[in-house]
Amino acid sequence: MIRVERAGVETRLHSSLCAVCPHGPTGCCASPPGVDWADIGRIVSRGGAQWLLGEIAAGNLRPGPRGLLLRRVPNPGANAGAWPTKCVYHGPRGCTIDPDRRAATCNYYLCEEAFLAGGEYQGDPAAREARAAHEDLVALYGQWDLELQAAVAERWPAGPPWDEPFLAWVGEVWRQMVQRDRRRWRALR
Ligand code: SF4
Ligand code: SF4
Repeated sequence: MIRVERAGVETRLHSSLCAVCPHGPTGCCASPPGVDWADIGRIVSRGGAQWLLGEIAAGNLRPGPRGLLLRRVPNPGANAGAWPTKCVYHGPRGCTIDPDRRAATCNYYLCEEAFLAGGEYQGDPAAREARAAHEDLVALYGQWDLELQAAVAERWPAGPPWDEPFLAWVGEVWRQMVQRDRRRWRALR
């Protein structure tokens, strides 16, 4: 069964298959996404600038060309050995951080098996609604990531400083883009 939790750009998709993931107990957290530029803007906008700086200092997040990379830690015994590492924030009961602090992908991603199990091909309304939301969010966040990446490169050609003023700037640019594109995500509210 699939459930759509509509919350605009923070919309979350849920599948009952995740509790018995065919890829093993770590699910897709064995292959975590990046915390990309638009994710950083969203996290900062939700009051997470100090949290980001703390996680960078702790080594759980590492600057990369597209924003931040999540640290991977050993994943002993999980996924039948197919995935030797997992996201640093994955615990015995799943994700240990608040949805406000996750990459948007962590909140809206569902794999093809989840859509299949959710009855997308049988026309299940929730599964079809989830597919549409998924596609909208992939397109929006992808565009915002590219725009922010270009803006960062233009302003800091040698690389950004990763301090509080920089994060505040990313948050403000992201808020402006979200406001500009509100017609595209309004249906997700
Ligand atoms: S989305 Fe798919 S791969 Fe990820 S936990 Fe759910 S069932 Fe597993
Ligand atoms: S942040 Fe949470 S949901 Fe995202 S990959 Fe890590 S453990 Fe999984």
